Amino acid sequence: MPLFGRKKNDEALRHVPEVAVLPEPPVPGPNGLRTLEQHRDYLLGCVEELMPFGQHVLDALGLSICEDVVSGIDLPRFDNSAMDGYAVRAADVQYATDVRPVRLPVVGEVPAGGAAPHRLSPGTVMKIMTGAPVPGDADAIVPYEATDRGSTDVTVTVPSSVGQHIRRRGEDVGVGDLILAAGSRIGVRDVGLLAAVGIDKVMVRPRPRVVVISTGSELVDPGLALSPEQIYDSNSYLLAAAAKDAGAQVFRVGHVGDDPAALKQLVYDQLVRADLILTTGGVSQGDYDIVKAVLPELGATDFAGVAMQPGKPQGFGLIGEDRTPIIMLPGNPVSAFVSFEAFVRPVIRKLMGLTPYVRPGVRCAAAHAMSSIPGRTQLARGVIAADETGARTVSLVGGHGSHLLGDLSKADALVVLPADTDFVAAGTELEVWPLDLPR
Ligand code: AMP
Ligand code: MG
Repeated sequence: MPLFGRKKNDEALRHVPEVAVLPEPPVPGPNGLRTLEQHRDYLLGCVEELMPFGQHVLDALGLSICEDVVSGIDLPRFDNSAMDGYAVRAADVQYATDVRPVRLPVVGEVPAGGAAPHRLSPGTVMKIMTGAPVPGDADAIVPYEATDRGSTDVTVTVPSSVGQHIRRRGEDVGVGDLILAAGSRIGVRDVGLLAAVGIDKVMVRPRPRVVVISTGSELVDPGLALSPEQIYDSNSYLLAAAAKDAGAQVFRVGHVGDDPAALKQLVYDQLVRADLILTTGGVSQGDYDIVKAVLPELGATDFAGVAMQPGKPQGFGLIGEDRTPIIMLPGNPVSAFVSFEAFVRPVIRKLMGLTPYVRPGVRCAAAHAMSSIPGRTQLARGVIAADETGARTVSLVGGHGSHLLGDLSKADALVVLPADTDFVAAGTELEVWPLDLPR
């Protein structure tokens, strides 16, 4: 596998940064496990928002702006015509009708981008195009449709009133108006407005560069042939897609076998381009759980049991000279995904400065009775539906097994079954995390 920025010597492998110290971890409950919320808040407390820098407005789409943006110009910039037609003095045509048309000389023409004549004399008109500046002393636009479209003289057959079809300077946005407040997320329409007021760059927090690595000697890339004991690497694809969906710039490195030296070298080599590293596999109790064994050699780490199902074994660290955060997720694909939603998405949102860091869930009534493991927050896979009254209900999809990727794909929500219960009756209000939200 090609390695990024590989060191020529093995000093890297002996390097343990001195500064890496983690904040005090949360105190686990009597069962030796910390709660999902405790672990999530701990990770959020260990990472900082990325430093903002100037980005082109189009590249800033979806990012959090770190400055108040004030318009330096009026929109519209000048009084201009909303129609193709004739600039007039309204008084000259205020009584024009089909029966008593008004005929006036056409003394000039103003195209869009043309300079506005200083003055329109009484009893005359000028041809004007949409967006062209309105001549001085003209106070209405007569659209072509209300005339015979004459070139030297024009016959007007519809009355006009003062201000008609004129777009006034500053009526939309004024000089000095706040158009985007620090902390807001730049949306499609904001990009248009920034461009309209002439701004090409804004200070935003960048997309975090997220490196995704999966571990396991059984893994093979999709597209290749499998031997009987091998399986396809789904996690690095699943997590890369999830991180991209959360707004990150993703480097999917792929998989590494259960070889401590290879894993250590690979992680070390990736530090140069990572704001966050994600690994899957190798964090539980198996003999080949190398992530847990190797990562403490690269920095400060925290391996903990979290009172959730799936996703109990969780690892976190700040590694390398820059104290780069690494989140080490369990290997079962559904566990990895659920852990992403519970922990990684909030961390990515914090790096990006997107508030709230934890997206709020929605409340849905259980469509049927559900059993739940006491002592653990279960994140079951579900589908949200609206019942006859329009109220939202949620039903479960498939089983609780953390290998059930087919069922995960059918689900559109994670259903939070609380730790303090073993049974949820039909109709009970539950917290649900919709999965297919707009970013
Ligand atoms: P581990 O946590 O490494 O013991 O892995 C737990 C289970 O998840 C095992 O059945 C692995 O084969 C499976 N698994 C681990 N990594 C992946 C992956 N990247 N893609 C698919 N399955 C995986
Ligand atoms: Mg493994």
